Amino acid sequence: MAGPHIELKDVYRTVSRRQGTDSASSAVLKGVDLTVYRGELITIMGPSGAGKSTLLRLINRLSEADSGVIRVNGRDVRDYDPRELRRRVGMVFQIPVVFKGSVRDNIAFGKRLWDTGADVDALAGEAAIPRELMDEDAAHLSVGEKQRVCIARALANKPEVLLLDEPTSSLDRAAAEKVEQLLVRLQSEHGLTMLWVTHEQAQARRISGYNYVLEDGQLCREHG
Ligand code: ADP
Repeated sequence: MAGPHIELKDVYRTVSRRQGTDSASSAVLKGVDLTVYRGELITIMGPSGAGKSTLLRLINRLSEADSGVIRVNGRDVRDYDPRELRRRVGMVFQIPVVFKGSVRDNIAFGKRLWDTGADVDALAGEAAIPRELMDEDAAHLSVGEKQRVCIARALANKPEVLLLDEPTSSLDRAAAEKVEQLLVRLQSEHGLTMLWVTHEQAQARRISGYNYVLEDGQLCREHG
């Protein structure tokens, strides 16, 4: 489809922060603009608490903008059935959360929900999950293996977009490298659009030429 895949125009979001018994509202996003084309991978960096997770969560409507417009495929996210939006726009978090049951059950979760016809064994292969782990209890896996299960589970929904919220930050170096390479390969093989939050500038530069920084509520393109 021609035109941007993801578009944010003048997006504002205020959150209430609690400190002891006090609570106050403060704007985290103050007029964010962003355009991402189909098949692009962009990175978002910025200080802790800058609103990076908040920004990602607006795109699949895990939370709502106060004002501004967010479009996926040219269509306002508020005009989608939220479940359909979340099937198209998958998310992978910093800490992988697996559901009760085997690795196979976990990967098949979206397939059962959506009847996408995804081939669970093929997805496991794509996410480099060894065949002998398929019937293991997912709770017993290493953190890196769990993250690969979460990625395979996200792919089972046949998404167009993946929102990645520091997907390698909770992993040791070897596992982080493996997951980074896996995501980059999946992005090019599946033509996925990816918005990847990272705190590591070296990672951002390795994986993308489109690097942004979120600071003081504004998203700016990083040059150089
Ligand atoms: P980042 O991902 O850049 O570290 P976040 O988006 O997680 O930042 O958080 C931005 C700010 O908004 C933080 O100060 C956080 O405490 C606050 N915040 C985020 N979500 C909520 C919420 N649902 N309720 C209250 N405060 C929130």
